[in-house]
Parts: sequence; C-alpha cells; structure tokens
Amino acid sequence: MQRLIDGYRRFRAQQWPERRAMFERLAHLGQSPQTMVIACSDSRVDPTMIFNAEPGELFILRNVANLVPPYEPDSAFHATSAALEFAVRVLEVTDLIVMGHAMCGGIGVLLRGAPDPAGDFLVPWMRIAERAKRRVLERASADPQSECEQESVKLSLENLLTFPWIADRVASQRLMLTGSIFDIRSGLLMLLGPDGNFAPVAAQAPGDPPR
Ligand SMILES: [Zn+2]
Repeated sequence: MQRLIDGYRRFRAQQWPERRAMFERLAHLGQSPQTMVIACSDSRVDPTMIFNAEPGELFILRNVANLVPPYEPDSAFHATSAALEFAVRVLEVTDLIVMGHAMCGGIGVLLRGAPDPAGDFLVPWMRIAERAKRRVLERASADPQSECEQESVKLSLENLLTFPWIADRVASQRLMLTGSIFDIRSGLLMLLGPDGNFAPVAAQAPGDPPR
C-alpha cells in the first residue's frame, strides 16, 4: 500500500497541477465519452494506456476475460449489463470496443478449470464463453488458448446484439462495435476485420513522418 500512497503523492505534486483545469472542466460539464471499452481485469491490460487516452475519453468496464453476457433483464445482479446500459442509453457512446488479450487467465479457467480454491463465481461466469470454447475444440486447434481468446471476443460481440437498444443503434449506425485483442507479449493491438480474422493495427498511420 505504501507504494501506492507514494504514487498518489507524486500524482498530486506532478500531474495534478498540469491536469487540474481538465478535471475542473470535466467536473463542471460532466463526462461525455464517445467510446466504451470492455476489457479484462488483468493488471497488464490498461485501455487508457494502450489507446493513449485522457480522463473523460473512455468509459471502461473491466471484468474477468472481457465477457459480455446475453441480455437477461431479470432480478439478478448484472454489473456488465448495467455498465452497458449507462454507456449506451445515457451517455450515448458511439463506439463500443471489446478488447481481449493474450495469455488471459480467465480463458485459462474456461479451458482448464478454476485454480483451487476459486470456483464459486469464476466457473459459472466463464460459462458465458462456453460456446466459444466448443467452437475452438471442434476444430482441434493447435493453439486453443489464443483461439479461445479470439472466439470469446466474437461471442461477446454477438451477445451485445441481444441487447435491443444496442441492436437498434447498430442497425441505424449510431453505434459501432469493434473486436480487438491486445498481445501483452509484443504490445501489438489487433482488430477484428469483416473477414472474421484479427489483424494487427499498423504502427504508423499512412502519411505519418517515419519514426
Ligand atoms: Zn484476461
């Protein structure tokens, strides 16, 4: 904890003076992020860092294995669906990104079961991705971990469309859904293309001066 307190003190001394005006503007006007990111809780995958974003830009939900459950408006506690509802219906974000990542422990649970003694919540939560696992195992993949990471992002995108207020906005092009994977080994971000494959984002935009 002391390390975190020290970090906070550095933030107050070094970053807060520079960012104070921005935070005051955000506090006064409220947040109006254009983008929601659904990422894994994994400590190595920080969407704000990966997208080089500022406070106020990204509405982020992180859960185990960046999963979206199907639309189930019942009396259970739906943290992910509540965050989706707020971002889409209240903030009216125009982009929704599901970001998986390499070496995901949640996907490991899906493939190999929960590490002892976890299991009360992890195993039932990962059942959301059971269909992704079946798809991968049916094709006898050489790398089921990576393929499951990719298939579960696709499955989450499919589940997003079971929410009627998401499907409506996607159909009328007010909301765009994107699948992605961040490879923590190489730092590469891959985007899901219309062909169903993930391809790395070019490090430089066309026309940028060479670095
Ligand atoms: Zn993960």
